Amino acid sequence: MVTPAEMWRCRATDRRGFDELGGEVAERRRTAEEVEGPPPGAASLRSGVASTRDTGVAVWPGPCRRPSPPGPRSVALKQGAPVRHNGTGGLLPNTLDGQGAAMILGDLLDLVPPAFKGQVDDVRQRRGRRIHEVLRDLTRLRLQTRRRDHAGEASDATTVAIELEAGMPVGMRDRPIREEHRLAAMLSLWEPELAAIEENGAAFLENGVPVIEELESGRAALAGRVRALPEAVALARDLRTLCKDFDLVRWILEVDADVMGTYLPGGSQRGSGRPRIVLYWACIGLIGKAMGVSVRDLAAVVLTHELAHAFTHAGRDIDGHSWATPAYAGCGPYVREGLAQWYTEHGCAAIEDFAPTASAIFEALLDRQPASYREHRSWGKAGLEGVRSAMLQARRQGVVELEEFRAFLASSSKVLRSESVARAGQPSLPGFGEE
Ligand SMILES: [Zn+2]
Repeated sequence: MVTPAEMWRCRATDRRGFDELGGEVAERRRTAEEVEGPPPGAASLRSGVASTRDTGVAVWPGPCRRPSPPGPRSVALKQGAPVRHNGTGGLLPNTLDGQGAAMILGDLLDLVPPAFKGQVDDVRQRRGRRIHEVLRDLTRLRLQTRRRDHAGEASDATTVAIELEAGMPVGMRDRPIREEHRLAAMLSLWEPELAAIEENGAAFLENGVPVIEELESGRAALAGRVRALPEAVALARDLRTLCKDFDLVRWILEVDADVMGTYLPGGSQRGSGRPRIVLYWACIGLIGKAMGVSVRDLAAVVLTHELAHAFTHAGRDIDGHSWATPAYAGCGPYVREGLAQWYTEHGCAAIEDFAPTASAIFEALLDRQPASYREHRSWGKAGLEGVRSAMLQARRQGVVELEEFRAFLASSSKVLRSESVARAGQPSLPGFGEE
């Protein structure tokens, strides 16, 4: 479980990230207000924002590489709609607030502090190798190939590239948020802060104020202003109640696909190249923020999941076999996500030395994900060997439907059970075991 100390550490870290936004918001608002219309050749106001992809520079995330499709929204933005502070700490063209073009998921991604990019990248660079080793031990498959340089020196090279991007997978950024859910969606980003105001404010009122008021200097310091505290607590409580109208994380995760990262078995959507993983740092930050968990640990969970896809597809067994790419892509989500989730769950338990809340985060996500992400929960009886054996069978066969995979699981479990019964019935060798 996530301990209170962990939650607090996460909140403190995240708040620092949000505080850094102040200057950026003001700067971008000034810039936008000075612009009478979009710059020549720009598809929208947003396309003028610098991209953050691998620049290492802390600026606003720029997931606007794919401009919104033509429509009322794009038209409104192209006309250089005036931008104003909307009271949420963010910056939205006023056409998104109330009437006019719909708010989209990308608008929330634009509010994610760039500080999270560094945290996700740190996990990728410093923890990727360890997660790789954990999954190699669990699957007993190899993702590395031995290469020789010009001098004949041999070294192991990983066959899967791991990249970092803002935004989310193609098409998801433009998902519209219904008007009645806009406020709740926006408030969800500050739910942990609102919880802290409500809970800590109430605790201070009940336990701190009476003690402080016993001192004359304490009464002078409070000087009647303590009356504002119950109002602040009530406001935070009311705003949290509004958040409950809309579960932002569930809404983002309900699509039957990975959204915080993607595994591309063929390297791209068309796919005939080397496998590739993309981690979407802004989406990881957004979901981590809304859940009130450590963004680093969430990034570790996402990386474990995407690497689990890579191992189950491209990992080579002792005979050098892997899953043919078209066949792997042809399997339904229940088989692909089931296997990835099976190894993610076991992987999270093995990385708790550097990601102590990984298993708790995995569990919390599971409740909000589609059924294909929970399929592995019915495989428990097969154990690691049973699932591995069924996976190897499936890889040899090619395209596998869920019912077939479940049949492989049942048969491998039966074989393993009969083998263990046979071992238990074997007579002891002289000098070993029973006298
Ligand atoms: Zn997946």
